[in-house]
Amino acid sequence: MLDFPIYSPIEPVHWFDTSGVRVFMKRDDKIHPFISGNKWRKLKYLLQRALRENKNHLVTFGGAYSNHLLATACAGALFGFKTTGFIRGEETLPINDTLFLCKQFGMQLIYIDRETYKNKQTIFCNYFESNAEAFFINEGGASEEAEIGCAELIDELNEKYDYIVLACGTGSTMAGIVRGCYERNYASNIEGVCVHKGISPVYDCVKKSSQGLKNWHVHEDFHLGGYAKTSADFLNWIYSFQQKTGILLDPIYTGKMMYALHHLIKQNYFPQGSSVLTIHTGGLLGTLGMKNRFEQIVL
Ligand SMILES: *Cc1c(COP(=O)(O)O)cnc(C)c1O
Repeated sequence: MLDFPIYSPIEPVHWFDTSGVRVFMKRDDKIHPFISGNKWRKLKYLLQRALRENKNHLVTFGGAYSNHLLATACAGALFGFKTTGFIRGEETLPINDTLFLCKQFGMQLIYIDRETYKNKQTIFCNYFESNAEAFFINEGGASEEAEIGCAELIDELNEKYDYIVLACGTGSTMAGIVRGCYERNYASNIEGVCVHKGISPVYDCVKKSSQGLKNWHVHEDFHLGGYAKTSADFLNWIYSFQQKTGILLDPIYTGKMMYALHHLIKQNYFPQGSSVLTIHTGGLLGTLGMKNRFEQIVL
């Protein structure tokens, strides 16, 4: 029923060729234009559970630029679910590209003030308690199912990479990768780049799934001031990377991951000759949401 072929090739990233570190990228952004990257992996087993429980209405949560909301809206349309998204904050007009696309896929949008938004279970109960068809999906899809889905990425690796590098929001994708390596006996070092201030939630999330293993590390020095914060140097770096590689990054997640990688390589964090697999977790609409910021910077 949830038949969805995964197309996520592994490509070399020649931009780093002179550094002595071999860099590759797993193109999860190519899985789907809107259910892209880790968001499909995180949703897959949640949707299967929804089907098993005879639910036909996905209810979830996110900020106005949430890649997860859009992925849920599109996956819902594709697999025959109704969808409702609770949006943090007030409606701002005109509607942004992410929410516009959510609506195109038939998602009902409900705006919730920031205080009330903190308790998602209460919101769900207030609106859907008597609706036996409604299925609760946490913000970002964070769940046990999400980790199991992300762990499957390891099955798609035919070679050994010394390091796996990825961006972390909640950390559940990383937790899934750590767990996938462990369960499949795949030896690698997993390097998470935290994209917001304060790594403890990410750290705790990964630790919980790590079976006591220590082959992972969360980097806390690359958030550039906090979630969705940027700097002129950083945006310029993204510009030049994109223009020399043809790979689009977003300034919220994958941009910070690759910028961190660039710095870690400069600091000789990776031994010469080692191989690094970066994961492009998708989210290219993040770039569109920030087009004004890009246009303000002087090249
Ligand atoms: C949601 C998202 C992430 C963060 O995933 P977590 O599992 O919350 O750590 C990373 N990259 C992109 C592009 C995303 O949309």
